[in-house]
Amino acid sequence: MRLSNYLIKEKKIVVATHNKGKIEEFRVLFSKYKIQIITSEDLNINDVEETGKTFEENSIIKVKTIPNDYLAIADDSGLCVKILNQEPGIFSARYAKKCGGWNEAMKKIYSRVETKQNPDFSAKFVSCLSLKFHDGKIFTYNGEIQGKITWPPKGDNGFGYDPFFIPTDKNQTYGEVEYSKKVLTDHRSVAFKKLAKIHLKNN
Ligand code: IMP
Repeated sequence: MRLSNYLIKEKKIVVATHNKGKIEEFRVLFSKYKIQIITSEDLNINDVEETGKTFEENSIIKVKTIPNDYLAIADDSGLCVKILNQEPGIFSARYAKKCGGWNEAMKKIYSRVETKQNPDFSAKFVSCLSLKFHDGKIFTYNGEIQGKITWPPKGDNGFGYDPFFIPTDKNQTYGEVEYSKKVLTDHRSVAFKKLAKIHLKNN
């Protein structure tokens, strides 16, 4: 059987995450392939400590938490702000926790940029997806979306830093953009399209 046909044949995959926002996005991304989504929670697998130094390293650490009995996929992602030396980057989730929530984190990030001598609000969302097969082989795919951060946050759609991020090709925040449009065009979807081209061919 060709590698590219595994996913189509098995009809189910484990998403190595407890993040509800990501789980919903994966459901949308996989929906046209009729593949059942299981999560780490369904298998009683805890979140792992993200000890990597890059999105790719952390994505691989996460996907390895799922036993090889299953096909598995993981995402490590985050917001990188140019003038802040790409912070919070791989620490995006931990930064929000440290600040006391998404709103507090957005406020802090925005004010750190605003108080620079020459504020530059350029930012990007980055995602690294890892796909693991039964033999333990892992394939990684990256996606990025350029944009800028804005204040105040707007919109109730999406999750995390969505309400203060405006992608370059739009004039609304990800919190305002129609949910399915965001999911099918964001950084995860850019990486997912690369993965799908190789592993989800309908042939
Ligand atoms: P991690 O990949 O579990 O380390 O967490 C990534 C964090 O980056 C999320 O908890 C969010 O804070 C942020 N993030 C990643 N992707 C998105 C997105 O699509 N929208 C908003 N925030 C995101």
